[in-house]
Amino acid sequence: MTDHHVTLKYIYLTHTHADHFFGAGMIKDAFPGATIIVTRATADGIPAVMTPANLAGTWEKLFPGKLPTPIVGADQVVKDHFTLEEHPITIISDGFTDTHDTTSLWVPDLQLIVAGDATYKGIHAYMQETTLAARQNWIKTNEHLKTFKPQHVVAGHKIPENADDPAILDSTIAYITAFNKFAQKATSALELYRQVLALYPTYANPGSLWSSAHAVIR
Ligand SMILES: [Zn+2]
Repeated sequence: MTDHHVTLKYIYLTHTHADHFFGAGMIKDAFPGATIIVTRATADGIPAVMTPANLAGTWEKLFPGKLPTPIVGADQVVKDHFTLEEHPITIISDGFTDTHDTTSLWVPDLQLIVAGDATYKGIHAYMQETTLAARQNWIKTNEHLKTFKPQHVVAGHKIPENADDPAILDSTIAYITAFNKFAQKATSALELYRQVLALYPTYANPGSLWSSAHAVIR
């Protein structure tokens, strides 16, 4: 039970990135009745993220001694929707945004989109895995999310005190568009990094921009 007097029923994983599911087992420990649900593509992608080599080579180095044990994957695959206390929730397939097969949720009764990593607010977007085609799809995804005319949009990464304002769909589009424009002409990763940083000096996690710039210009 929570302060809202509801029981947590589902934990939905929007995509396969470790920062979006490594903690799911801890939430489940606190709410043992909850079921971790995912799309088929997310279920299929999770094992590759949980390999001992990836845990030791990447995540244990970033967070020594702090990874939950065990890290759990999904309990159940859902297709394109599920229901929560008689309220329908639609799974939106976003395609490749910050990684493959990402999804968002649409809750019509609240006019709410839970965007996953399709949408960022106040944080440099993680583009390390992207191609230009992926980033163009990422822009299209945010345009598609706008067609729902949501009242609230929860970003996958945000400054906690920032509002869940639908305008973040536009600001995500603007960020990726600017990144693509600079990437087209920049002659080095450092130049691209500096140009985007100059345009977004207050955004958090410049390390993400650094790795994105180096992935795009080698
Ligand atoms: Zn992600």
